[in-house]
Amino acid sequence: MNQDSDFAETALPAQREMAAQAASLRQQRLGQILVALMLAFAAVIAVNVASGRANMNVVMEGAAIALFAFARQRNRRGDVIGAAWILLVTLMVVLTSLMVFGQGLYDEVPMAFPGILVMALMFADGRVFSAVLATMLLVLIGVYALQATGVLPAVPGAVEPSRLLVLAVILCVTAYFVHTITKDLRLLLDQQEADKQALAQSHQQIAELAYHDPLTHLPNRALGLQRLQFLLAEARRGGHQVAVMFLDLDNFKTINDSLGHAAGDELLRQVSERLQACLRTTDMVARLSGDEFLLLLGAVEDERAITTMASKVMEQLAPVFNLQGVEVHASGSLGISVSPRDGDALETLLKHADLAMYQAKAAGRNTFRFFDESMNANMLAHLHLVNALRQALATDALQLYYQPQLALTSGRVIGAEALLRWHHPELGWVPPNEFIPVAESSGLIHDLGTWVLYRACRDARTFRIQGLADLTVAVNVSPLQFRRGNLKELVAQALAAHALPPSALELEITESVLIDDRQRPNEMLDSLHGLGVRIAIDDFGTGYSNLSYLQRYPLHRLKIDRSFTSQVTSSPQAAGIVQAIIEMGHCLRLQLVAEGVEDMATLTRLRNAGCEFGQGFHWSPAIPAEQFVAFARQSRSRPPA
Ligand code: C2E
Ligand code: MG
Ligand code: MG
Repeated sequence: MNQDSDFAETALPAQREMAAQAASLRQQRLGQILVALMLAFAAVIAVNVASGRANMNVVMEGAAIALFAFARQRNRRGDVIGAAWILLVTLMVVLTSLMVFGQGLYDEVPMAFPGILVMALMFADGRVFSAVLATMLLVLIGVYALQATGVLPAVPGAVEPSRLLVLAVILCVTAYFVHTITKDLRLLLDQQEADKQALAQSHQQIAELAYHDPLTHLPNRALGLQRLQFLLAEARRGGHQVAVMFLDLDNFKTINDSLGHAAGDELLRQVSERLQACLRTTDMVARLSGDEFLLLLGAVEDERAITTMASKVMEQLAPVFNLQGVEVHASGSLGISVSPRDGDALETLLKHADLAMYQAKAAGRNTFRFFDESMNANMLAHLHLVNALRQALATDALQLYYQPQLALTSGRVIGAEALLRWHHPELGWVPPNEFIPVAESSGLIHDLGTWVLYRACRDARTFRIQGLADLTVAVNVSPLQFRRGNLKELVAQALAAHALPPSALELEITESVLIDDRQRPNEMLDSLHGLGVRIAIDDFGTGYSNLSYLQRYPLHRLKIDRSFTSQVTSSPQAAGIVQAIIEMGHCLRLQLVAEGVEDMATLTRLRNAGCEFGQGFHWSPAIPAEQFVAFARQSRSRPPA
């Protein structure tokens, strides 16, 4: 009983259902057998009465029918075990009595014993079966002893038709039992076979799900890595090379964003078909994640074979893709590492292929690159720099310097450009052109940019307090800060934190920000303009040639790039460009600031060309805030330069 309830609690629903089915079948079979036995005993009574032997046997057989009827009732109420016990005990007692009062060992009763044993097996456990068998043997031995000692007569009875009929009844009932049990057994075996097949099928499905990508049906990361492990072990034994290729689609995000995810999925499916088409049977392509694929080439002869395969992959991606009726061009960047040259451990090879892939991206995309050691060194240096920069930011080890901006005619300081300075404990001064890209690629630029904004506002406030009320502080803004979308809020908070009027702050952005419609420059610039801050275009002239944006956006200043300023006295072309920029700026009502003014001749040239403002080493490099205050004060007390 306990076991049953334990089972009921722990078994799975399917197992519980099977157990319930088996119990109900057993109950059904017991009912059928009890009816069969009642009929059989009734037939025997009929035979006995017909042959004029209405004696003790008939009474006992009648009692047996009554007990069977009682057992049937119990069985119907669900007491299968109780009913089975009544059945077995009744049969043993009645049959033994019939034997003793009949013809002993010559009686037809022992013929029924095998049938009873089958029943014991069907409805009880092995112990009951053994007990029934032992009882039968004891009965046989006992009857033998009684007959052998003459207590019972030991003479076979005469052959009568009734004997034939009783034997036939016993045989038929036994045959019925055996038939029933074998039918059930066969059914059970068939069911087991079906279960086995279903199990094998679900194992296969699980393996498919666990090792394949549901979208492209390509092997997934897990299977790809298993295969790589296998190829590496094989290559070690055979002494050949294995190539690991990392493929990243170049413009997947754009396609996904502009055409929708269904088109993106379709592209991935088509790409995987094309990749599979160019592989040998020993190679494998797996989908790692998103738009990243892993191609594994086993047993490659030399680098030429790998190059051929890489070119083939590029060629496969070149033809236009048709995505739900839209024609789309896609390309990929491929990074390749080769074992054993670039490492023989799985992780190393993957890391190196990944690094090479980034190099392929940096080289303009739609190309492939083999890994080389310098990539590793660059990567390590990059990581060190990211960590050091993060720490510098956390420990307030960065400084903001100010390069004075002057009015070219009066020589008065009109403002300053805030420029970051970082003194690394080992590397010394690290130029912003080195660490700003590192901050951008690591995402640190957002924290860094916020720090600069707050610090610039704080210092601008100090300048005002120290009597320099009309100065503008210009802060450089990375395109990534612009793209994030919260720049207006950040600027507003920084201004508010230091009670600075918005007109005291200028934001320097690059041309690239303006031409990228995805960044929605219109909205952002309008909201910044609405806030009251000024906008300057930095490094003007080095970006894109589409100038239509100049009239579209609310801008204040153009900063002529140093590459033009520095040549204004030596190159008539540069002088021409500078002149053109100044005239165009004035037409658009923009102020001009020349960057990188290093000498008097340049200053004179720019002033004559009509440029209003300038900054450069001719006056001062970027200097700490206190020095800047002194410089600005001095400029105001000097006569015009
Ligand atoms: P930029 O915004 O064009 O800054 C002007 C750069 O020219 C500064 O370099 C400045 O020191 C340098 N410079 C100024 N006058 C002269 C001159 O007469 N001759 C020469 N040869 N150089 C001159 P710096 O400070 O090394 O900054 C380089 C770039 O780093 C900046 O170019 C700017 O793009 C970026 N940067 C600096 N600070 C920040 C910052 O706080 N945030 C962001 N996002 N970028 C920054
Ligand atoms: Mg700048
Ligand atoms: Mg600049």
